[in-house]
Formats: sequence, structure tokens, C-alpha cells
Amino acid sequence: MRDVNLELGGLLLDMAALAGTSQRGWGYKRAAKAVLRLDRHITPLVEANTFRGISGIGPTTDRIARELVLDGTSAFVEGAIDEAGKRDVIEKNRGFRAHFLSRAAVADVLSHAGAPSRAKYRGDFQMHSVWSDGAETLDSIVEACLVRGHACAGITDHSYGLAIAGGMSMAQVVEQHAAIDQINAKYKGKFRMFKGIETNIRTDGTVDMEEHELRLFEFVVASPHSLLRKTIDQTDRMVGAVSQRGVCILGHPQGRRFNVRPGVSADWNAVFEAAARRQVAIEIDGSWDRQDVHYELAAAALERGCLFALDSDAHSHPELDFIDIAIAHARLAGIPQARIVNYWSEKKFLEWARGSWDR
Ligand SMILES: [Zn+2]
Repeated sequence: MRDVNLELGGLLLDMAALAGTSQRGWGYKRAAKAVLRLDRHITPLVEANTFRGISGIGPTTDRIARELVLDGTSAFVEGAIDEAGKRDVIEKNRGFRAHFLSRAAVADVLSHAGAPSRAKYRGDFQMHSVWSDGAETLDSIVEACLVRGHACAGITDHSYGLAIAGGMSMAQVVEQHAAIDQINAKYKGKFRMFKGIETNIRTDGTVDMEEHELRLFEFVVASPHSLLRKTIDQTDRMVGAVSQRGVCILGHPQGRRFNVRPGVSADWNAVFEAAARRQVAIEIDGSWDRQDVHYELAAAALERGCLFALDSDAHSHPELDFIDIAIAHARLAGIPQARIVNYWSEKKFLEWARGSWDR
């Protein structure tokens, strides 16, 4: 089925790319975000002439939407691309939009009761706080999770290897863990915060922390943050990451970004087989511009026997809602709830995480 909102968001980003860093460029970017975050499909709005009434939607966006809905393409956008002589660059960006869902498409998938369930989701295992590049304190994260009905959360600030994202020194880790202990004492029986870390997968497939450091955490996420625009085969790197003792979750496995970059190229079935052997969970990262892994790769991972983690990768409270996107991909992939660590009890989760040292 067509996701017209996603198509329109893409066309607006095409216009933004043509306009560059000008005021107009920012305007198109804002409009693209507004469209991708809309929880209703635009087709009926355009047909009813009410699309323009939505905040963030100007006359040009309305025109492009109208062409897209009526003709299946926008002569206005295609003409602008050719006039600017930027066909090559735009087509390249367009290659980085496959298997993403707009918020309206996510709302469709979640509109009926089903599994994995929105209501039974217990907690999110990738999020960032003020201890690295997130905006929120640990205390306020607990409150934001409780409001959403969650029973637990795994805090995964960046490791010291990722200086650009304010990675924590080991001295800061010790301080953070003391703060988490206090939180867990305060919320005992109501909420449990797990001590996690998002480590970096180096180019050789090892993670950027020593084993005795990794052992300080209750669970470890390993994610690629480099070599995400190369077409070289990185199967060995990713197999290495999931083979490393202590690693529990393979975070945003591809490292792709909507309209920006393709992420890691690898023989994913080989990676998934290695992950399944060690019971490393494959993450479905729900950030709107990541959606990584997407439903098709997730279905392949399921076939290989993998476990999964559905996470928001939130850096601020509103982003905690990105788990909806992750749940939608999991539903499309047909993943049984029992295979998803976010639905497990505290006891089962911790046993599994500790087991990552012995498998
Ligand atoms: Zn990351």
C-alpha cells in the first residue's frame, strides 16, 4: 500500500535539498517533519481541501500534495530538480527512503488490538540522559516513563569512545550508577531502572570498552556509529560485535538514516544467525529517521531465530513515543511478543542479560 505521507515528506526534503541552507530550505524541512509526524493520511485531507489548514503546511506544500495525490507524482518538484541540475543527488537521497513508515502508517498498524501489544510493553532499553547527549535527567525520565505506563527502563548513555556524543568516563559511570541505585530505592516496587550502556562497534568488530568495564553494567548495547556511508561488506564487523561476550543487544544494526545514508552493508542473515546463537537481541530502533532494523530485515532475523528489543533511542521525553514506530515494524514482521525482551519480567530480563557472559 502507498504511504503518501512518506512520499510527500520525501518530496519536501527534495525541495529542501535544492534550497540548501536558505530560509526556504529550513521551511521545507519543517514542512517535511510536520507531514511525517501527522497521524492522519493526507489523501482525504487534500481531497476535502482541508490540508492547508494544518499548522506547518503552506501553499507550496499544499500544491505538491495535490499533485502527488491526483497524479501520483509532482511535476512542480521534478521540474525544480531538473532546472537546478541536481537529479543525481536527489535520486541518491531517494534511495535512502525504503522501508520507512510515516506516523500515519504507524497509526494504521497500531489501530487494532494485536501483538506485540502497545499496552503490555514494559520498558524501553535504549535511551539517553544528560549523562551523555540526552536532554533529560534520570529522575524526570522515570516520571515520563511512568506516565506512559512503563514498569522499567534501561538507561544507555554513550560510552567514552564516542566523545562527539558526550560519552561517559568510567568515573562518571560510577556516579551515574550511584544515582540509579538511589532511584531504584525510591521507586522500589513501582519502577526499575536498569544500568545499561551504548557501546560503539569499532571497525574491527570489537566494542570500545574493556571487559572489566562492561561487567559493571546490567546490560550492554553495541551499535555502529562509523562507516555508515560505505558500500564495503561489513559482515565480519557485525558478526564480531554480536559474538562478543557481554553484548546483549545489537543497537540500530544498520545505522541508516532517512534520506541521508544507507548504513552498514552486510550479509544480514549471517549476522542474524550469529546473534541467534548467542541470544543477542536485534534492536528495532524506533527513531523516526532510523527505523532500524525495518520490518523486512526483522522478518529475516525472526526466521533465523533471533530475539528482539523494541526501543525508542530517545534523547528527550517526547521521543519516548518512538516505541510506537518500533512496535509497528515488529507487527509487520510478525514477531511473537515472547521473543521481545521489552515484554519480559525483570527476573527473566536480568537472567538473559547476565547469560550473555556465558553463551
Ligand atoms: Zn547509537
